[in-house]
Amino acid sequence: MVARGGPIGGAQPSRRVTADRTLSRVSELDASPTEPVLEWDTPLFRMARAQYEQALPYAGVSEMVAERLSFPERAVIVSVPLRRDDGSIEIFPGYRVQHSTVLGPTKGGIRYDPEVSLGECAALATWMTWKCALLRLPYGGAKGGIRCDPHALSRREVEGLTRRFTSELIRDFGPQTDIPAPDMATNEQTMAWMMDTYSMQSGYAVPEVVTGKPISIGGSVFRREATGAGVVMVAEQAARRIGYELAGRSCVVQGFGNVGGVAATELHDRGALVVAVSDVSGGVHSEGGLDVPALHAYVAEHDSLAGYDRCERITNEQLLELPCDVLVLAAREDQLTSANADRVHASLVVEGANGPTTIEADEILGERGIPVVPDILTNAGGVTVSYFEWVQDLGRLFWDRDEIRRKLSDKMGDALDRVYSVSVDKGITLRQAAMVAAIREVAAALEARGIYP
Ligand code: NAD
Repeated sequence: MVARGGPIGGAQPSRRVTADRTLSRVSELDASPTEPVLEWDTPLFRMARAQYEQALPYAGVSEMVAERLSFPERAVIVSVPLRRDDGSIEIFPGYRVQHSTVLGPTKGGIRYDPEVSLGECAALATWMTWKCALLRLPYGGAKGGIRCDPHALSRREVEGLTRRFTSELIRDFGPQTDIPAPDMATNEQTMAWMMDTYSMQSGYAVPEVVTGKPISIGGSVFRREATGAGVVMVAEQAARRIGYELAGRSCVVQGFGNVGGVAATELHDRGALVVAVSDVSGGVHSEGGLDVPALHAYVAEHDSLAGYDRCERITNEQLLELPCDVLVLAAREDQLTSANADRVHASLVVEGANGPTTIEADEILGERGIPVVPDILTNAGGVTVSYFEWVQDLGRLFWDRDEIRRKLSDKMGDALDRVYSVSVDKGITLRQAAMVAAIREVAAALEARGIYP
C-alpha cells in the first residue's frame, strides 16, 4: 500500500513565503481548516512541520518549493509475516517514508520499536532531509521500521523479520534510491542481514545498499564513534565563538551510550573536565572531573552506571541543572522542557540526541541568552560518516581512520560556519539558522530541477 499526501494546490512559483503564514505554533497547525488531513498527521510530524514553517520566512524560497517540501514524497506500508519460534505466524506492520529525492537517493535509519508509526517515520524522514542538506550530503531524508517489541523476539526471529521486511521493500531500497542505516534497536548485524538479503536478490554483493554494517562486509572505520566525535567537534567550535577553549572547562554529558560515551571520551581527551555523566540509572558527579576511562570500564563490565560509587550520585534532573560551561544532551528527546529550562546553568547547550529540547524550552533558553547548538547540526557526524561509507563502497577503495576524521571535521566545521553566518545575518537562533541553511540547499536544487513534468 502506498500512501500519498492530499492535494496541496494553489502554489504560485513567483510568490515568496512571508512571515504571516509561517509563525504558526503546533496547536495552530493542528486546527488549521486549510490543512489537508494526512495519514502521517501526528504530534511529532506537526512538530517537524512547525519548525519548518518557523524557518521558512527567513529562507526566501518560492511558494512552490515551500509547499513541495512540506510533505514526504513517498510512504510505503508493508505487513511483514514472521514464523515465531513456537511455530505460529504473526504479522507486523512495517514502514518506509522517503521525504525528498531532490538531492539524491534517500538515507535514514530503520528502527524496531512498539511506537513506530507512519507519522513518526514521516517526521524523522523530514529531519533527515534537513540534516543531510545542511551537511551538503547528496541525499534526501528517509526513515522506516517495524512496529514490534524487539526484546520479546529471539535472535532468529529478528533475523527472519529483518530479511522479510527487506524483501517486501526490495524495489524501494537500493544504492541509488534509498539507503538504510541502523537506528533504535537495530545495529551492524541488522544491516548485515539487510545487505545479504538484497545481495541474494541481485546475484552479487551490494555493500553500498546499507551503511553502518560490519567492517568485514564494507563498513567504515570510525562510523561507530562518528556521532559522538562530531558532537565534540561542534562543541569545540561553538565554545571558541563564545570565547573559550574546552581544555579546563567543566562539561556535563547526559546519556552515556554510543553518542554520550564517545562525546565524554573526546571531551576528556581535549583536557576538558567532565564533571558529570548519566544514563537511565542516574548520574555520577565530581567537581574535580570524572575518570572517564574508569567509567567506561565499569559500564563495559556492569552494562550501566548503576552501583558506581567512586563519586557522588545524582539524579538526571539534578544533572541537567548543574552549573557548567558545556551541557551535552546525548540521551533522548524532551529533556529540557518549560519545567526545567529556567534552571539550566550552562553557557552552551549542544544537542547530541534528536529533539532533546522542546520548543518552549528553546524559547526560555533563548531569552536567557544560552545558545543551543541544534541536533541537525550537532549529531550529523553519524550520517556524514555513513556517506563516507557509501562513497568508499561505491569506489571499492577504503580510507583510514585519520583521513575519515579529517574529512568529518572539515564537513562539520563548514556546516557550523554557515549556520552561524545565517544566525548573525538574520538575527535568529542557531536552530532556525540551521533549518534555513538546510532549506536553502534543497530549495536551490528544486528550483533548478523544477516540477516534473
Ligand atoms: P544509546 O542507546 O547507545 O545511548 C543512550 C543513553 O542514554 C544510554 O546511556 C541510556 O541509558 C541513556 N538514557 C536513556 N534515557 C535517559 C534519561 N532519561 N536520562 C539519562 N540518560 C538516559 O543511544 P545513542 O545511539 O547514544 O543515541 C542517543 C541519542 O542520539 C538518541 O536521541 C539518538 O536518536 C541520537 N542519535 C544517535 C546517533 C548515532 O549514531 N548513534 C546519530 C544521531 C542521533
